[in-house]
Amino acid sequence: MTLETIFYTQITSVIAFIFVVFGVYRLLVQQKDATIEQLKERLTYLETKVKDFEKQSPDVMVESLHRRVEIAKAEILRLKDEGEEYKGQVTGKEEELHGLKFKLEKLAALLADSDLVCPDCGAPLVTRNYYTIYGPGDQDADVEYAEYECGYVRDEGNERGNRPCGARGTFEGET
Ligand SMILES: [Zn+2]
Repeated sequence: MTLETIFYTQITSVIAFIFVVFGVYRLLVQQKDATIEQLKERLTYLETKVKDFEKQSPDVMVESLHRRVEIAKAEILRLKDEGEEYKGQVTGKEEELHGLKFKLEKLAALLADSDLVCPDCGAPLVTRNYYTIYGPGDQDADVEYAEYECGYVRDEGNERGNRPCGARGTFEGET
């Protein structure tokens, strides 16, 4: 081998080396470019998504809120109507009750005035009958005998037959 040959061989190998290095470098760059390209695409996709969200979300939120408000409003109106209805019903019942109370009071006063109940405790009458007593000189009189649930007895013909209201204690002469 001549010196010249050795020189060219060396040059060739150096050039080959440079080509190989360059090739590898290009390959790497290409791969990098591909990765960058992929990332760019992804970024664009995400950006589009974000923009979509920005466009949609407020509307969706507003619509959802609006719906909720409408539901709440309907509910409030319904409750108000029901409340008024109940109010009317309650007022009607109150008036009815008032009327009944008035009637009851009148009835109670009537009963108290009558001899249908014990004047002391209000116990009901259980027995009432009339009989005739004969006074001196053909003076007849119709008298009443009345007995009440509490034991109270009113005997118009014989005052000794009277008995006090049992609700107040034991009767005189009773065992
Ligand atoms: Zn009584």
